[in-house]
Amino acid sequence: MEDCIFCKIAAHKLPSNTVYENGRILAFLDINPASRGHTLVIPKEHYENLFDMPEDILKEVIVASKKIGKAQKEALHAKAVNLVNSSGKEAGQVVFHFHMHVIPRYGDDTHQIKWTPSPESRENLEKISSSLKEKMDND
Ligand code: AMP
Ligand code: ZN
Repeated sequence: MEDCIFCKIAAHKLPSNTVYENGRILAFLDINPASRGHTLVIPKEHYENLFDMPEDILKEVIVASKKIGKAQKEALHAKAVNLVNSSGKEAGQVVFHFHMHVIPRYGDDTHQIKWTPSPESRENLEKISSSLKEKMDND
């Protein structure tokens, strides 16, 4: 993907602050961090979002995210960590090369991952879970 900024970072054609690297994965600091140490974990190969990711690489991303989260806690004294992935523009995805945000939380940061919860009827919950289950049973 010639125009993909994260492909260029993965190929070391653009600079980044690397945090972790192996044969298939690269992790580097977000240039506009939500908090100190906010890291992005990407596959070196181009996949647009969650739905294109091969499962073995997805597992490597999660394993790398855990390592990075542990280092954020131990080296940066984060108290907790959010893993965030946006897959699709309506979810807020801006860079269309899969990435997992690993966001350290310090208890005093301004970053919020929030939605407004509203109660759903038992009947609707039943309908929704049935349609999802049925879809997955038939895949
Ligand atoms: P998303 O909204 O999930 O697509 O997030 C894209 C993220 O990529 C944002 O948090 C940006 O700050 C980050 N970003 C964009 N360009 C770069 C870059 N060159 N180096 C590091 N992070 C970047
Ligand atoms: Zn790419």
